[in-house]
Amino acid sequence: MSQVEYYKIYIDPGHGGSDPGAVNGQYFEKDFALDIAKHVRDKLSSYGAQTRMSRETDIYPTLQARVDGSNSFGADIFVSIHCNAGGGTGIETWEHDDSSSFNNQLAQSVQNRLISELKVSNRGVRSAPSQRGGKNIFVIDPSEINAWAILPEIMFMDTSSDLEKLKSSTFRRDAGHAIADGIVNFIYTLPPKV
Ligand SMILES: [Zn+2]
Repeated sequence: MSQVEYYKIYIDPGHGGSDPGAVNGQYFEKDFALDIAKHVRDKLSSYGAQTRMSRETDIYPTLQARVDGSNSFGADIFVSIHCNAGGGTGIETWEHDDSSSFNNQLAQSVQNRLISELKVSNRGVRSAPSQRGGKNIFVIDPSEINAWAILPEIMFMDTSSDLEKLKSSTFRRDAGHAIADGIVNFIYTLPPKV
């Protein structure tokens, strides 16, 4: 019997509202992140998991509000969904330097599923803040957030071949489903919760 229904997953689409995230022409990271996140939610719900989102529309919750939302929900797992920029191709998943080994297994499971499903360049699991800067690390800092927390970066907004993939609703759906399946695969590795 599945354990999935005992788990709470908080899904955080990056940016929103006045913060578009990375921009390429008429395309905004915030919109891609929200669409992918809705597919994560729907797939996890179909498995019976308990889900909540930091936003379901084009608004900007503060980073503190996202962390508080996850903590008050009592989330076991937190996933913040972003698209990359700055030159490159493919997908990487971030966790915090101070993350637990369970957190690392979650990150690996989601990253592996994304790559096997989408067949794009594997940039691996990366560790923040030692390998990057940026304020969005706040939401995956275990001193702030109680859940196991990861931040996948889905393709590069400023790489034209990556942007073409992000513009595809089928690709975004598959990405969302891959994140959900990676989370569920991780849950299956855990000892029974109740
Ligand atoms: Zn972002």
